Amino acid sequence: MKTLYRQFIIAILLIIACSIIVALFIANFFYLNVTKKESDLQHIEMAEEIIHVLESGHNVSSFDAYLQSIAKLGYQIAVIQQGAEPRFYGEPFEHNIFPEEAWHVVTEGEVFHGMNSFSSNFFMMGHFANNIENTVGIPFTVNDTEYGLFLRSNTKLLFSGIHMVLVGFVLTIAIISILGVLLLARQLTRPLAQLTEATKQLAKEDYSYTLDIERQDEIGQLASSFNAMQLQLQHNNLARKAFISNVSHDFQSPLMNIQGYAGLLQTEELKPAHAEYVSIIDQEAKRLSSLTRQLLLLTSLDQPSYPLKKTNYQLDEQLKEVILKYYWRLEEHNLDLSYQLTPVTIYADKELLTNVWDNLLSNAIKYNRPNGNIDVSLTVENSSITIQFNDTGIGINEEDMQHLFERFYRVDKARKRDGTGLGLSIVQQIIHLHDGDISVKSKASTGTTFTIKFHL
Ligand code: ADP
Repeated sequence: MKTLYRQFIIAILLIIACSIIVALFIANFFYLNVTKKESDLQHIEMAEEIIHVLESGHNVSSFDAYLQSIAKLGYQIAVIQQGAEPRFYGEPFEHNIFPEEAWHVVTEGEVFHGMNSFSSNFFMMGHFANNIENTVGIPFTVNDTEYGLFLRSNTKLLFSGIHMVLVGFVLTIAIISILGVLLLARQLTRPLAQLTEATKQLAKEDYSYTLDIERQDEIGQLASSFNAMQLQLQHNNLARKAFISNVSHDFQSPLMNIQGYAGLLQTEELKPAHAEYVSIIDQEAKRLSSLTRQLLLLTSLDQPSYPLKKTNYQLDEQLKEVILKYYWRLEEHNLDLSYQLTPVTIYADKELLTNVWDNLLSNAIKYNRPNGNIDVSLTVENSSITIQFNDTGIGINEEDMQHLFERFYRVDKARKRDGTGLGLSIVQQIIHLHDGDISVKSKASTGTTFTIKFHL
């Protein structure tokens, strides 16, 4: 696998190599066009100083001692004269054959710019070539004899003393930089490796893997988002499991009852009680069918983009229709219902909102006390519509209020009363899909008020 770490190191090394090559080309260009010429002129100046002393000395025998001492200062010197062997001072030249032009110094009195015209195959390495060709030469005369003085700096000395310190300095910077880059690369890739491991654990439904990443940068942000996601997934997983167990429980008990009573009906001896069994089977079958309907609705509402079928219609008329539908149940429970409905047109999904009013009204009936009251109101204010369902029922205590809109939550834990615990979560979901708000106020044994607000 191509690890990020390896790619990072290779990229850094490539960048270093490229920068060295570019720097070499630039340095070489500068050397060829500026430094070489300047070096040649500096050496000519130095040679002129030397011959000035030689020419004013009038003493050929003192040549050697003087040039020896100059050579010791870091120069390689050669002196030629026609018909005599060349004389050399200082570090010997590797190639000490004098080219044709060099002899022109003595024969024609010309200045020899060997350093400027010297070329090397490999970049500026020519600077270090220890050749006669890589010198400057100027003519001088002592006691009417023509001489040529050739000179170049002893480059071996370049690599001593302070130059070695400078080389060490550059090398240390290079080594520390490369080590720093390696360390940085590891620092950057380590949390990614941790994140990869964490995602693998997460895929195995292990939510206990903790990330040890304390950073303030983007990787730190990624790690904290990951932690938040892990928590959310853990929560979702628990909720899913609880949901499944609730669903199976709520499906199981009516099914068992249906099976049991159906079995009893098949036996001959229990004929007188048949009517009761049939009614239980009917009740349980209804409950199962309502549970399935609610579950199906919830699942479709859960889709990220539920297609709302919005139309403009009279909300007050819709509420009246729902109230009318429940008339016989109100009678049955001996409940009084009053309503004040301000006429208003709403742009909403009519079918879904019918579900909401059905749920709230059936709850107000189901959880009311005998001879209780229910009040339904619809008011329009500025840019909002408020609908309230107020009952004088059993009420809900503080603790239960926190969980009221959770799926399958029922205050009556024994599930004695008919219900699924899904109604209010469906109501809330539908209201939110319409960008509305739902709130509840309740007092145990006194009554409950559900308030829904829509923005016009
Ligand atoms: P259910 O099908 O059990 O009625 P809901 O989601 O509609 O499910 O309601 C959840 C729980 O909230 C109910 O079990 C009930 O205990 C409580 N509840 C809902 N409406 C009222 C109300 N008007 N008065 C008292 N308690 C209520």
